[in-house]
Parts: sequence; C-alpha cells; structure tokens
Amino acid sequence: MNLMYRSTRDSNNKVTASQAVLQGLSSDGGLFVPETIPVLTKSFEELSKMDYRELAFEVMKLFLTDYTEEELKDCINKAYDDKFDTPEIAPLKQIGQAYYLELFHGATIAFKDMALSILPHLLTKAAKKNNVQEEIVILTATSGDTGKAALAGFADVEGTKIIVFYPKDGVSSVQEKQMVTQKGDNTNVIGIRGNFDDAQTGVKMMFNNTELAERLKKAGYLFSSANSINIGRLVPQIVYYVHSYASLYRKKQVTQGDKINFVVPTGNFGNILAAYYAKNIGVPINKLICASNENKVLFDFFETGRYDKNRDFILTESPSMDILVSSNLERLIYHIADNDSEKTEQLMKALSSNGVYEITDSMKAKLKGFIGGWASEENTREAIHQVYQENNYVIDTHTAVAASVYHGYVKETGDTTKTVIVSTASPYKFANSVLSALHTGEVPADDYEQAILLKKVSNTEIPNAVEEIRTAPVLHSKVCNICEMQINVEDILKII
Ligand SMILES: *Cc1c(COP(=O)(O)O)cnc(C)c1O
Repeated sequence: MNLMYRSTRDSNNKVTASQAVLQGLSSDGGLFVPETIPVLTKSFEELSKMDYRELAFEVMKLFLTDYTEEELKDCINKAYDDKFDTPEIAPLKQIGQAYYLELFHGATIAFKDMALSILPHLLTKAAKKNNVQEEIVILTATSGDTGKAALAGFADVEGTKIIVFYPKDGVSSVQEKQMVTQKGDNTNVIGIRGNFDDAQTGVKMMFNNTELAERLKKAGYLFSSANSINIGRLVPQIVYYVHSYASLYRKKQVTQGDKINFVVPTGNFGNILAAYYAKNIGVPINKLICASNENKVLFDFFETGRYDKNRDFILTESPSMDILVSSNLERLIYHIADNDSEKTEQLMKALSSNGVYEITDSMKAKLKGFIGGWASEENTREAIHQVYQENNYVIDTHTAVAASVYHGYVKETGDTTKTVIVSTASPYKFANSVLSALHTGEVPADDYEQAILLKKVSNTEIPNAVEEIRTAPVLHSKVCNICEMQINVEDILKII
C-alpha cells in the first residue's frame, strides 16, 4: 500500500510521494504531509551495522513508497558518493560533553547538501514515473545555502532549469561567490533588493499564480521547488537523525531505548521538523531543542503559543537563519491540530493577513517535546570562542547558535541526557565571522587569506568548495527589486 500525502490546507488534496516531490508546494498553498507516520522496521542493533547509504534506503523507503527499490537505491548511490569528503557522509564527533553531527561534508559545505544531492534524482525519476512531458523549472528562494546546494545539484540535469533568488545584502561573501560563479547552461541566479522572507514570499506567489501556471504549461514548463517545503528535501534529512542514534549505539554510548537530545540551529524549521519525524518513526528522542538567532520568532512561539512575525528583520552573522516566516512550522501546526486542515488553513491565513496567529491550549500541550532557545550575536561569538578554548574545535556561526543555546539549557535544567548538536555549516563558509570570534588577531580582508588562517587555527583542511571559488569567474550578476521577480522569471523562460 502506498503512503499518500495530503495538503496541510485541504485534506481532499491527496497525492503519491512522487507527485508531492514533483509539485513541491500544494496548489492550495499548503504543504504536503504524510497521511500516517511509518515506523522503523529494523532494530538499532541492525541499523547500527549499516553504512549511510544502506541506512538511507531503510528510512526513505518508508516514506517514498511509490519509488521502486531500484529507483531509490539508484538515487541514493548517485547522491551519497565522493561528492562528500568523507565516506561516513555525516560524522558524529564527541567534543567535550556533547556530540557534534557534522553535516557539512558535501559539495557546498553546508547541511543543505544532505538533501539537495538527492533531490534532483528523486525529481527526475518522479517526472518519468508520472509521465511529465514538461521541462521542470526549479524556483528557489535562498537565505544563502539552499541556493548553492540546489544549483550544484541541478546544474546540467537534463529536463530541468533552475532559478535562484537570494537577498543581495543578506548572505556571506563566500555564499554569494559560490552562487554567482555557478556553471551550467540551465542555471540562473538573481540577487533581490530585499530579505529572505521577501524572496520566499515572491516565490510562493509565483507558485500560487494560476494565470502564470497556464502560460508556463503552454510553453512546456512546470514549476517545482527545491526549498524545504518539498518533501523530497525533508525525507532525506530524517536519515541523519537515525544515523546519529545508530552511531551512538554502535559506539556503545547508548543502549536500545536510551533517549538523546538534539539541538538544531533553526531557520525555516525544515531540519528540526525532520528530527520530529525521526522521533515519530522510532528514534528515542527526549527533547528537540530549537535554537534561533536574534530573529527569535520561534523561541517566542514555543514560550507563548503565539507566532508573531511583526518585528524587525535582523541581519545576523548566522544569515541562513535570518527568517521570520518559518515555512515548515505549518507542518507541525497541522500535526498538533490532529491533522485538521481547516484549522491549519485558518491560522496560516491569519499569518499572511495580520502576521500573527495563536494556537489553542490543546495544541500547545503537544509541543512538550520541543524547547525553544535563542542566542544573541554576542552569545554566539562567545560560544565559538569557548568551544575552541575548551576543545580545540572550531564551529561555524550557525552551529554556535545551537551550542550557545545548549550551554544555557544545561545550566538551567541540569539535564545530563546525551545531546547531539547539529552542525549545519563548515566554519570555512563563514570564516570572517568565525575568525573574529576566535580573537586570533587581525582578520585578513581577503576570503582566501581568511581560509589559510582558519586552516592554521583549526588544524583542518581547506575544503574544495573554498578552493573552487578562488579563481572562478562571476557568471551571474543580475539584481532586481522584489516586485520584479516574476518578470525576471518570465524573461528567462521567454514567456512574456
Ligand atoms: C538552512 C540553514 C539552517 C536552517 O535550517 P532550516 O531547515 O531552515 O531550519 C541552519 N544553518 C545553516 C548553515 C543553514 O544553511
């Protein structure tokens, strides 16, 4: 029996996994969620003996049931290969009292590679399966890391085009360079004069524009999404939570049933939602700790049950978490409302018209497994410094937000549960901020000089991604206003 997916805003809208991957966002504006949550069919004794690919298959087959075994394995083998600089794919390192799950060993040195290495394969297989004749146009808003990871994944993939919008002044220098030097005839990168939320709203509006969809169809195109609203991104992210537990089990750090905590540096709520699904399929998890930067809308939500995006958007040194509308929270809202799509739609409408919604007490009671925390810019820098001083281990600014929240959580609660801090980016991606937090003296202005200094300080190799952009020519220089996003898309696709 196939596991079907329903829209969070209309429960009559029901599709297979491959159709959900193809569509990205549901036509009613909702997100696709699995109708029921499957459970792991193997014990951790068995799972702990598997490598990353084998484990990925065990997890993904539970959710993507209309893909054949061969199709899934083919996608997995193409994704988790030597694009990653370690065969472990997602190493778990014990550093001091905590474990760090390093998700930055892929091509673009941020955790988005974990899902975006496989999404293009899942998508092209889904197109074949569903007899899609149109060329697929991947429309993506990025806070910095999704953009490059999606570009790298889709570059020169036959039957696809990709268009990425990023906030011109809201990403790190390495992030921007990585995107604007992207090769591939089917790639397009545009900076917008606005922030990530503007980019995401603009993209969602194009998805929901039926008039545009008709013109696209006539011209032989179909939109899809590489953002974490696509379940094709969410499902691969569940894998590394299972993998973490299996690693701890193998190293005899836990025995079957011992619970662990995860601390997740959060922006769009995709990564931590994958952890929530991991918990529901059977990974023994105590607390999911949601770490925000100064854009602490999620912290306030977990404290009060009220989501309020009416506040200043703050540009921080953890730019991939500079988000006020966390799209994937909609899926959690749907689940804690007992899969009530009418209730979810009502709350999401309130969010888009007033910028605020409030959940009921019974919904709030179902959030007990989550803890919200946040770190100021100052705290984030301190965490980088402290972890380095104590353990000689250098973390990036996003991971540091999580580390800071974790330190505060332990101080406050005395919780001694084994805890995994999810490390979402390589410090090389944010070398400028990291070096200045480490107080290693004057930080050189040049990106590559920074990398050389970081190599010395951290005793790690400079990742290939940093070497690559050193001499690569800029191939994309377009910048537009928020209101010009659609016209740019029409221009690229020549459908004006
Ligand atoms: C995208 C990103 C995040 C936030 O992840 P979400 O799934 O959007 O919550 C955190 N850190 C880094 C480095 C990222 O690229």
